[in-house]
Amino acid sequence: MAMNNSPPTGVSSTSTSLGPNMDSLGFQAMDSNIPVMPDYLTFTDFGIRTYFDMFKKMEDTFKFCVECKKLPDALPDSKNLRRCKRCQNVYYCSPECQRANWPVHKKFCKKLKLVALDRLVEWLIFTGRKFGFALHAPEDWCWEDWFAMQEHLDEKLGAVLTGRYMTILWANAGKPKPEEGELLESIKRLISDFQSRPITIGLGLHAFSIDPYAKPITVHVAGASHIETFNTRVIDYDELTQIFPGHQGIEVVMVGVDVVDGSIMRPPLTAFGPRGRVYLSSYKGLYHDFWESQVETQQAARPDLVVGFHPGFHACQDLMEGWLPTLLLLRDYKIPTLFTMYNEQELKSSLKILMELETNITGCGANPFASLKPEQVYSCPNKPLVYCSSHYIMFHGLSTNEALHCS
Ligand SMILES: [Zn+2]
Ligand SMILES: [Zn+2]
Repeated sequence: MAMNNSPPTGVSSTSTSLGPNMDSLGFQAMDSNIPVMPDYLTFTDFGIRTYFDMFKKMEDTFKFCVECKKLPDALPDSKNLRRCKRCQNVYYCSPECQRANWPVHKKFCKKLKLVALDRLVEWLIFTGRKFGFALHAPEDWCWEDWFAMQEHLDEKLGAVLTGRYMTILWANAGKPKPEEGELLESIKRLISDFQSRPITIGLGLHAFSIDPYAKPITVHVAGASHIETFNTRVIDYDELTQIFPGHQGIEVVMVGVDVVDGSIMRPPLTAFGPRGRVYLSSYKGLYHDFWESQVETQQAARPDLVVGFHPGFHACQDLMEGWLPTLLLLRDYKIPTLFTMYNEQELKSSLKILMELETNITGCGANPFASLKPEQVYSCPNKPLVYCSSHYIMFHGLSTNEALHCS
């Protein structure tokens, strides 16, 4: 496999100076279902030198009593913080708090175990990622088929399992190494998390009958955030080329105020994209400003499809006000649009808003290529877990008042 086999030059190989602002991230994550960024991504800010320190720092983020919310500082001896032995994820200040929390925690403990494992294995994927897994234009779209279609999958996964980074991980993680089968499942969940976005774009193109073989395609990701743009490489949406091999050129432009500076921070294309390749670019700003300053002036191509991963306009008035000009623009210019949500409840609330705006809903339901990686609500782990892009809504222009039944 194409894993980077060169030895690490130290922790700096996993860190970067391009990290998003921690304060705003932590705050955001506490107030919503938006998953918190893995802590190790901001290591340069902390001057961490060893893997052991890195994993400890990563875990420290989760060290607070889930029951009474006490932080380690508030305890006479921070060693008194106990970890749930089953999930290795949540902490308690005392046996009393653990007992009091159990009736709620027991409902989530099993899934939280997966979350705790995935955030360790995620480091591994970030460190040596380049999977080159591909989806070859299937008729039946589901993860099982997708994994079945990956060439030499067992070999590739085996290489990760026995690789040097796996050894480093468990020598420093401060947690017992899980069984091989559990690790394999974790790696697969992380691959699904990573590939979910390009494949969902592929589903959108497919659903709107937008044909990348007929002409070059431009896709805008509106409201792109740190989740979509942090550490993103120019090849990260190449899966689209596996879905549509030999296409006329697909451009994906990340647009959002929270777009993180990095290798994809380059201007969008003004002319036809490179045939058979995916071109990734980004623009830091609100989508409707981008439209006015770039699309209207023809400095960026008009989109064939606009996708929003977890826009969250249903969540609060502020977000809705930010999104409203964009929603109206997409509706009035009749741009095929696909939004994803973290769960069915978000789907329902978002649907209600889009219907009130009289958009023509063309489809909605569960996304067959939702991420398989469970996300905990950072500060309140004992809540139902969510999955990135678990549901989707598509709309196209103004409503013609036809009733639509969602699956
Ligand atoms: Zn407590
Ligand atoms: Zn537990």
